[in-house]
Amino acid sequence: MIRVGLAVVLCALVAGCADDPGPEPFDDMGCTNLAFNQVDGANTSVAFEAEVEAALRMLCQTSSEHGLGYESYKSIVTGRVLIDTIEDLTDLDFQTVLVFWELAADTPRDEAMAIIEQDILGYMWGNRIYIVLGDSTEVLAATLMHEVNHVLNRSDENYYLPIDGMLDPAEETQILNALSVDDGAGFREEYRAFYLEEVLAGAPLDVGQQQSMRSLKQEIANLYGFAVDVDEFPDMPGGLLIPDDDGWAARPPSLCRPDLTYFPCE
Ligand SMILES: [Zn+2]
Repeated sequence: MIRVGLAVVLCALVAGCADDPGPEPFDDMGCTNLAFNQVDGANTSVAFEAEVEAALRMLCQTSSEHGLGYESYKSIVTGRVLIDTIEDLTDLDFQTVLVFWELAADTPRDEAMAIIEQDILGYMWGNRIYIVLGDSTEVLAATLMHEVNHVLNRSDENYYLPIDGMLDPAEETQILNALSVDDGAGFREEYRAFYLEEVLAGAPLDVGQQQSMRSLKQEIANLYGFAVDVDEFPDMPGGLLIPDDDGWAARPPSLCRPDLTYFPCE
């Protein structure tokens, strides 16, 4: 299970520390810089903000290889990604949830929430991360890191089989329903994010080069129902692993589908 070590507290403040974030002007103020941007800032709560801030503080203070935790924290507090509760899904993001869970397009929000909140800890689309409250700080910290990695890699765009040609935006409902998950692509996105949860918990970044990750891969395939042969996927995940400045600079370009509002051109 997830365990986040706190042995090296305030690592970023120590000169020459392995987790030194580098020369960027960003100041974490000793992990007290915890302000984050919400998707729907008008709709918030003290409890939500307190849970996220505790998880951000933990990510900031965690010692993990290549500053995985710290860079995930930094990606959030510098505004690269937005955080909110699953109840605050934008209308468009709610549509993508309905597609992903294969629910009817007219499913009421409260009904859909009752179903998906039991299934997930977090969800992302574009640069927006949505969380389910009520778990431990350790679980939320791991969830935020996991979802930041999805944002970095544009997992929302990679998950689905390619759609050929331009489509009529007026037919968006049908288009949403036509999106179908590519099991191999979905597995690659999830395996990378779960692999990094192991790194956040203390495993070396190249643990996949040192030992078989087969049981983790099988667990993920089972959890998500991906019909894949896990032995066909390397133990070292592909894609971008660390959400530092180099990682964000290497982020793949957006699909940019002017015909699909949920894959907007940036
Ligand atoms: Zn995921």
